[in-house]
Amino acid sequence: MKSLFLTIAVLILLSNQSFSQNIERDKVEDKYKWDLTDIYPSKAAWQADVDLLKAEAEKLANFKGKLGVSAENLYKALKTSSDVVKTLWKAWTYASNLSNENLNISENQAMMQQMAAVGTKFGEAAAFFEPEILQIPKEKIEKFIYEKPELKNKFDMYLNNIQRKREHTLSEPEEIMLASFGLIAGVQSDVYDIFNNAEKPFPKVTLASGEEIKLSPAAYTKYRTVENRDDRAKIFDVFFNSYGDFKNTLGANLGGKVKKDWVYAKNRKYESSLHASLNADNLPVSVYTTLIEQINNHLPTLHRALDLKKRMLGLNELRYYDLYVPLVQKVDMSFTVEQGQKVILDALKPLGEEYVSVLQRANNERWIDYIPTIGKRSGAYSTGGAYDVHPFILMNWTDDYESVSTLAHELGHTMHSYFSNKTQPFSKADYATFVAEIASTVNENLLNNYMVKNVKTDEEKLYLLGSYLELLRTTIFRQTSFAEFEWEIHKKVEADEPITGEDMSAIYFDIVKRYYGHDKGYCMVDDYIQYEWAYIPHFLGYTYYVFQYATSLIYGTSIVEKMIEQGQPAVDAYYNILKGGGSKYPTELIKDAGIDPMSSEPVKLTMQKMNKVMDQMEEILKRMGK
Ligand SMILES: [Zn+2]
Repeated sequence: MKSLFLTIAVLILLSNQSFSQNIERDKVEDKYKWDLTDIYPSKAAWQADVDLLKAEAEKLANFKGKLGVSAENLYKALKTSSDVVKTLWKAWTYASNLSNENLNISENQAMMQQMAAVGTKFGEAAAFFEPEILQIPKEKIEKFIYEKPELKNKFDMYLNNIQRKREHTLSEPEEIMLASFGLIAGVQSDVYDIFNNAEKPFPKVTLASGEEIKLSPAAYTKYRTVENRDDRAKIFDVFFNSYGDFKNTLGANLGGKVKKDWVYAKNRKYESSLHASLNADNLPVSVYTTLIEQINNHLPTLHRALDLKKRMLGLNELRYYDLYVPLVQKVDMSFTVEQGQKVILDALKPLGEEYVSVLQRANNERWIDYIPTIGKRSGAYSTGGAYDVHPFILMNWTDDYESVSTLAHELGHTMHSYFSNKTQPFSKADYATFVAEIASTVNENLLNNYMVKNVKTDEEKLYLLGSYLELLRTTIFRQTSFAEFEWEIHKKVEADEPITGEDMSAIYFDIVKRYYGHDKGYCMVDDYIQYEWAYIPHFLGYTYYVFQYATSLIYGTSIVEKMIEQGQPAVDAYYNILKGGGSKYPTELIKDAGIDPMSSEPVKLTMQKMNKVMDQMEEILKRMGK
């Protein structure tokens, strides 16, 4: 009965989607479409700006060899370059939004190609800036900044960032040699992608229904949630052992990537690859180590969530292959665009009148493109690239709760861009990755709190709380376990210790068993899970990146918890992030918002929230007699 309900719900969802995606764009009412004429009145106006850009980019060459001559010269050069980038982004935002309306229109794709060409041209023309500024003695730059206040107002962050690189920049021939290795820097990631997606033999599994499936990574993602538990057990066993068969090859490949990280870091005189990676946003290493330490201290909260999952799935023993089964069956909540807008306006009221009035502008002045139409880009995004216009949002609205929460998320980005663009000069408006997902998760938190308070039935409440709990579990605990693994394997290499696929499996297995409370009986982790690391492409494609998924959600959640606790002062403090753009380094912006990333407080507040959510869920289950 339960599975039938689920199937019908999924079918309705699918048919909805395919129905609406058959709509031609010109059949959609204007109020559901963004208005790109706010950026350029016509394609001809866009083209005129792009042509101008090419000429402006060429002018940059005039400054070559003269940046250090005077404060005035340096300012003029930076201002010219910054103005070119501003127009470049504006033109790019127009072209990309337009082409995303319908990816089948080749004329619009050609506009994107033009943008790429102009972007490359600018990159080449401005390539001398950084090395030439590094040639100017530090004291001279400080004198320039003193002489010319506009240099400080607009470009202090830019100049500081170059200064920070000074001690990690090599001599010119050394830099040229290091750059030449860029040609092979992506090899491990390429090898992995080709192997994992194409050449690795995909094992076959026969399900209880008699259906035979080939376990590609995509098929695994699809089938790991199947309701038949024996099927799940079999799928996990076969899938991860198929990575175990290649553990030494894949281990040598990942080991190569970790060694490459270290070679670059060491040559640039960083203490470790972690120091090198975090230096990009000037993050202290303690942000990373504190996260891992704090999350380890709070594993009992994860274990409580696992126990709750076991209870709700009606199992005597929870195993790793049960983790992907939805905690709560989907409840049918339907929202038109207008209903979704209304819910979001109400939910985000705590952020103040100005915030709400800008949200209304986004709705009324057509900043948002809602309807999935033929050829439109899938998914959702927000872009604040048109600095002196306003941000835009692309949605694919399907009348369900996910559409509402996606819109709330994207509006977080939009409001962050809106306030930063309005407050900061262009050169300091763009924000760092480390703070980029805070405003979006603040909104998701506020929406979830509002919905839990306002929905009528316990089923709906349980669905909302359950989805939120799963979000915290996977984004915070799972991503931090990945972060810990990444750190451990880098430490081995940096200590000149050998590391094989077998070593990696042992390290990974230890971490997973500890996180999921294997020895304490919370979740049994079968032996083959030791090979899961080999399935995760992020370890090859990124270096010390995934932890930011966890930190963003932790900061966003704790900011909202502070708002609930302290009211207006916490809301006011939050605006320091919204309006701050890139005017300060990420940790300073977060501190100004009332949260200290180096302290234990944000994780503590987030864990309190996670426990509150579980209290509420247990209460509801009790009421339901479950
Ligand atoms: Zn986002």
